Amino acid sequence: MRSQAMAVLELLYRVKQREFAEKLREMTSEEVVYVTDLASCSHKRVMRRYYPLLGFRFEPSLLLGDLVHRGLASILSENGGGRWRSEVPVEAKVEVDGRVYTLKGRADLVLYNEEGRPEAVVEVKTGRDLPDNAPREHHLLQVKVYMKLLGVDRGYLLYVTPERVVEHPVEAGDVDVEGLVRETVRDTARPRYQWECRYCPYRRLCPYALTQRSQ
Ligand code: SF4
Repeated sequence: MRSQAMAVLELLYRVKQREFAEKLREMTSEEVVYVTDLASCSHKRVMRRYYPLLGFRFEPSLLLGDLVHRGLASILSENGGGRWRSEVPVEAKVEVDGRVYTLKGRADLVLYNEEGRPEAVVEVKTGRDLPDNAPREHHLLQVKVYMKLLGVDRGYLLYVTPERVVEHPVEAGDVDVEGLVRETVRDTARPRYQWECRYCPYRRLCPYALTQRSQ
């Protein structure tokens, strides 16, 4: 019997592949730094530029995350009184060593006030487990960077797992965005957190990878 073509999965794969291909030029640009780069190992950005295709992943956990983000965006746009926007592009120019970099990101959810100014930002994180008691450091850093770039003093981290849904308020704090960009483009935070190498798609090629023996 001839097998039937897939109904949904193949389409999902093509969509993710197309989205990845559309971002390829930007993600390998020397001038572009992503907000997520500021909260992760600086050498990942270098490896991404050399081996961009190694970063393509089509996995259930990522698909689930994507679906939660899109579902939340749709619920808030239908019920949020027109005050919520999702995937809000955020951009800033930062000069390091005489070169101007474009810092780019997309805030998951932004709440606007009556005058149309941003009032609060929410980053949504999905996964199997919730961090114990407190939000994860790199997630906090990411929200703080968005708070600074959007000029808001209300920020939140929303964790969604199969067991729990928890929202943490985030204090603005004094985050040094320029310093983080400098560390990133000079590649001096490799890795930024000890645990990163374990989950890194470039670890088999990376000269700075922390192995179990080196930790
Ligand atoms: S293996 Fe570790 S040091 Fe190398 S790019 Fe990945 S996270 Fe950074």
